[in-house]
Formats: sequence, structure tokens, C-alpha cells
Amino acid sequence: MTLADNKAKVFSEVQEACLEAGRNQESVSIIAVTKYVDSHIAGQLIDTGISHIGENRVDKFLDKYEALKDKENLTWHLIGTLQRRKVKDVINYVDYFHALDSVKLAQEIDKRADHTIKCFLQVNISEEESKHGFKLEEIDQVLTELENLSSIELVGLMTMAPIDATEEELEEIFEKTDELRIRLQEKQIKNMPMTELSMGMSGDFKLAIKHNASFVRIGTAFFK
Ligand SMILES: *Cc1c(COP(=O)(O)O)cnc(C)c1O
Repeated sequence: MTLADNKAKVFSEVQEACLEAGRNQESVSIIAVTKYVDSHIAGQLIDTGISHIGENRVDKFLDKYEALKDKENLTWHLIGTLQRRKVKDVINYVDYFHALDSVKLAQEIDKRADHTIKCFLQVNISEEESKHGFKLEEIDQVLTELENLSSIELVGLMTMAPIDATEEELEEIFEKTDELRIRLQEKQIKNMPMTELSMGMSGDFKLAIKHNASFVRIGTAFFK
């Protein structure tokens, strides 16, 4: 399979999942996660017609950014854990940050950002100890602490399901994340539109789309 074939397959599967869910295809943005390949291959994939690129680590994000920043209409997503001491190196190249998982990290981003950073609050719906993200019972308090950070815009929620989750468990996690997003959106806090859901990877994006994912983060399926 070539990159173009993989790209066509991923896009048609997303389209199909949208149809099945009765959703408009434009309501789902496909982020190509390029962490498995070098900048050259990532660039070739982008040229097949990709407009969202994602990396999970700061060093790899910066490598790709340096090599591909001149490509037109590319939106840059940092999707993985960010350490506070690395915020200043990367944050001003980021359009969307998907893994906001502590108030201190948000404060550091607010301090270093020279433009508004669209952020997803990472939530640990399955309450797995090993996972990053806020627990359900922490969220309301966290929002009050983020309310006055003017460079942070909370566009929505991000979740990652456990790798060994059954289909049933996945559905439950995605559904709960969507319900939580709706509840938070109803608070109508000014820097927290909470309209977006970042969930779904190569193995589970169809289920995530069924439960209203608006950004899917897909790596493996593009490069296998
Ligand atoms: C690697 C990664 C993905 C993509 O996972 P695939 O299973 O390869 O599609 C999505 N989100 C995050 C945070 C990742 O690190």
C-alpha cells in the first residue's frame, strides 16, 4: 500500500462512519499523527491532502515543524503530555494542544503564549491510575482555576481509552466524555467554548465518531 492508498482508505472509513452516525463529514477533522515516520515521509503524506498534523512529543513536534512549516494550510497539533519546563520551547508553534492535564501546566502555557492556544482538557474517564488526565470529580474545580487564564481557550475534551478496552468499554468512555462536554459547554464560561471532542485513534475512530468525536488522531492506519 502507498501513502496515497492509506490516506484514501482512512478518509473513506471516516466518511462511512459519519454516514452511519448521521453526521456531516465536515464535522470530523482527521489529524495525521506522524510520530512513526521522519519529516520526509510525513511531508509526502501531507501532500496527499492532509491539513492537520499531530505529534505526541515536543522534540519530534519541533523536528516536523522545522521541516514542514512552510506547507500551506497546515494546522499543528501537539497531542501528547507536555512537561512544564518544555512549554516555552514549543507552545508558540502549536495551534491545538490536546493534553492539558494540570492547572500548573495551564498557568505556564498562559505565561509563555504569545497568542491564544486552543486546548483540550484531557480527561481520565476510565479512572485508570496509569493514565494522564483529570478525574471526573476534579473537573468543576479545575475550570474555576482556568477561567482567568486569558491565553487559554478550552475548545473541548480529549480522552484516550485503555489499550485493552472492549468495544463495550470504549462506547461507555466515549459516551461519557461527550456527556461531560455537553455539561461543561452549558456553563457558558467565556474562554471555554467546549464544542470539540478529541477522541478516536486507528483502532477505535469509528466508535469515537459514533459518539461525536470532532477530531480523530490517526497514526498507524496511514503508515502500515
Ligand atoms: C500515537 C498516538 C495516536 C495515534 O495512535 P494510532 O493507534 O497509531 O492511530 C493518537 N493519540 C496520541 C496521544 C498518540 O500518542
